[in-house]
Amino acid sequence: MSRAPAHDILFEEVAIGPVVARNRFYQAPHCNGMGHLHPNACAEMRRVKAEGGWAIVCTEEVEIHPSTDVSPHIEGRIWDDADLPALRLLTEKIHLHGSLAGIELTHNGPHALNLYSRAPSRNVSDTPVFGGHIPVQARRMDKEDIRELRRWHRDAAKRAIEAEFDLIHVYAGHALSIVSFFLSRKYNRRSDEYGGSPENRARLLRELIEETVEVAHPRAAVAVRIAVDELIGKEGTHKEEVEEIIESMAELPDLWDLSLAEWANDSASARFQEEGFQEPYIRDIKKLTSKPVVGVGRYTTPDRMARLVRDGVLDLIGAARPSIADPFLPRKIEEGRYEDIRECIGCNICVTGDFLAAPIRCTQNPTMGEEWRRGWHPENIRKRGSDKSVLVVGAGPAGLEAARALGQRGYEIILAEASDELGGRVAREARLPGLASYIRVRDHRKLQLDQIGNASCYLQSRLACGDILEYQIPRVVIATGCMWRRDGVGASNPLGVPVDEDARAPLTPDDVMSMVAKKSSENDSLPANARVLVWDDDHYYMASVIAEWLAGQGHSVCYVTSAGEASAWTRNTMEQHFIQKRLLDLGVEIRSNVILRRISKGEAELACGFTDRRERVGADVVVLAGARAPEDKLFVELQERKDEWGGRGIEAVDLIGDAFAPATVAHAVYEGRRYAEETDMDEEEIRAGLFRRERIDLRS
Ligand code: ADP
Ligand code: SF4
Repeated sequence: MSRAPAHDILFEEVAIGPVVARNRFYQAPHCNGMGHLHPNACAEMRRVKAEGGWAIVCTEEVEIHPSTDVSPHIEGRIWDDADLPALRLLTEKIHLHGSLAGIELTHNGPHALNLYSRAPSRNVSDTPVFGGHIPVQARRMDKEDIRELRRWHRDAAKRAIEAEFDLIHVYAGHALSIVSFFLSRKYNRRSDEYGGSPENRARLLRELIEETVEVAHPRAAVAVRIAVDELIGKEGTHKEEVEEIIESMAELPDLWDLSLAEWANDSASARFQEEGFQEPYIRDIKKLTSKPVVGVGRYTTPDRMARLVRDGVLDLIGAARPSIADPFLPRKIEEGRYEDIRECIGCNICVTGDFLAAPIRCTQNPTMGEEWRRGWHPENIRKRGSDKSVLVVGAGPAGLEAARALGQRGYEIILAEASDELGGRVAREARLPGLASYIRVRDHRKLQLDQIGNASCYLQSRLACGDILEYQIPRVVIATGCMWRRDGVGASNPLGVPVDEDARAPLTPDDVMSMVAKKSSENDSLPANARVLVWDDDHYYMASVIAEWLAGQGHSVCYVTSAGEASAWTRNTMEQHFIQKRLLDLGVEIRSNVILRRISKGEAELACGFTDRRERVGADVVVLAGARAPEDKLFVELQERKDEWGGRGIEAVDLIGDAFAPATVAHAVYEGRRYAEETDMDEEEIRAGLFRRERIDLRS
């Protein structure tokens, strides 16, 4: 297949001040939980992006000084010359493929808690520090502090030039950087020349741009990353005012990089925002400046990207998540390999790395974060180590990824799936409200399997132990997934939840998903307009989407969670606030810090999470989203008949994914890939579970 002529425009060069981008693909700055702590891993991840065709590959936030230490989050650092070797490694790797290296210099003001450096936090006015309920305030910067900040920024820019970056960002984005606090009418309460009018509030931004340009030109270009809107109306950063500010300094930088604030709005998940959702906010900016403009919006469709350029909305297509899910997105478009594109599903698992201070992972791209430490590559994989076939049982995310990657390695694959569709949990869950994009996990792998040619897929093929022994296939991998438990066992109730004999049997999310597949909640187990209690002892998205769907079906829903808020873990995917709001908007009653203790006829017994004080609430039906039970029966039976393997040519039987230990879709995809990578590796090596680690040099 060749590239559609309509997409040629995406491969034009773009001049950005003194440098030239070889095409219009811009890997926007994104955090990765590796940063300054894992410099080899970080540099190799960025190299792969450059190899995949991104003309500009940017760093994450790079702290310019110890007073902007954002630990425990792991970002880049350019505090002093000792940081240069790691940054040089990064630029070298990006330059290997002819891409430009961008560095997002930042001072995060009140968002920098300085837990490591122990420096006081700073802000435009005196405010509490950000990041939760923290009894510490940030100092209002006086004029000398501002001069000092400018000096640090200038020094960092000089170092960035020494490290051979081609593009230096002045960061005014996301209501995170100190510059955005100066710009903000909400936080800037100053009465000096840095406060009051938009011109005054933008003074620091103007100074930083001018000083960075002075340092950077002619070696490197200067970009301004600015939030166009904070989505809270006139009280916050808003489009009209930001347009006014941009117009007033339109020709100062070499590139305008547009985003939304806060970060949760900018990187909204697919459950809450569609591809291109930022377009209304950014579409008029190009009219204000002759300089190139870049924006983001989870763009994965080449037609849409080309249209944005043709319509004069953007000059460069910015992408963080699409570049994580598919580091080779530009090259695939360039070569017309559209069917190979691995589209981001907008789940925000990648964001959790930043919140949990651990290396980034991605649901769609299991190689993300493993480029250096395990040597995995998103497009390439070692050729097979033997000519033995592999039987993959179960076509959920784990089984599909194992089959795809093994197939790519050249193994003959037999994939057996019990149901009448591929995809396992993602096929079921994608029918739930807001989760449609999850089907991309299946569709990408299905398309790849179709192309590989050495994989045979059998639907409606529930295999039993005897079948597998009979097939005599040397390697067997069981990826049979898991089921939501019916007994209420979970973190809060390790022994389960008792159900009175005359009570209606509780439902599980699997039951509700079957109803969703039939597009109706009306059946014997759930009367019309019922009072439904949804018990969330899982804390990810499931209970909340179930509550959302049931409310949409006309039921009166009470959502009960042992945590302090709905879908508590989704704080790490930046969805929690949106989820709680949506449930409340739908009229769902939310009960937090409460534990389900008993299910009785027409009611449920709840206990206060602190006092254990009991109360009874009306509930016709209870849905239990607690723990899940691995479907490992097949594996256990095969182990029990291990003595029969030899005679039947079976060498190994492995268990992966949710059938091994239930977790996220990202975990299942990862385990599928790991199996495919390791299946013919030395067993000792695999058992040790080792990967390359970054070591601290004790001599320095
Ligand atoms: P994971 O997330 O680990 O991939 P899923 O639950 O998404 O797990 O997928 C498991 C798949 O395995 C489901 O599609 C299920 O129908 C299938 N399956 C379960 N038991 C068998 C079996 N005995 N034979 C074939 N397929 C099975
Ligand atoms: Fe996209 Fe999810 Fe991967 Fe992030 S983790 S890049 S949102 S698929």
